[in-house]
Amino acid sequence: MTLRRDLLSYLSHEPRSVSRLARELRLPRAEVEDALRHMTRSARAAGHRIVVVPARCRSCGFTFGEDKLSKPGRCPQCRESRIFEPQVGIERAN
Ligand SMILES: [Zn+2]
Repeated sequence: MTLRRDLLSYLSHEPRSVSRLARELRLPRAEVEDALRHMTRSARAAGHRIVVVPARCRSCGFTFGEDKLSKPGRCPQCRESRIFEPQVGIERAN
């Protein structure tokens, strides 16, 4: 629960990627992704707005869907694996 609250406050200051959160919170990426999924769901329910800057291929510019919060492995268009990570932020309702 504390982790989700931390995520909410981190992300309402500035959008961040899962990698950056994992680094800052010193947690495995999988754990951050999991907490993030739960947190965005309850944040939405509480009326906050989730802002996602979608992942983008560095090579061809292909933009991934906003539903993807973690870094995709490969670009479906050009097969490149160099991809900008998605950034997740929160605009608080209050
Ligand atoms: Zn590409």
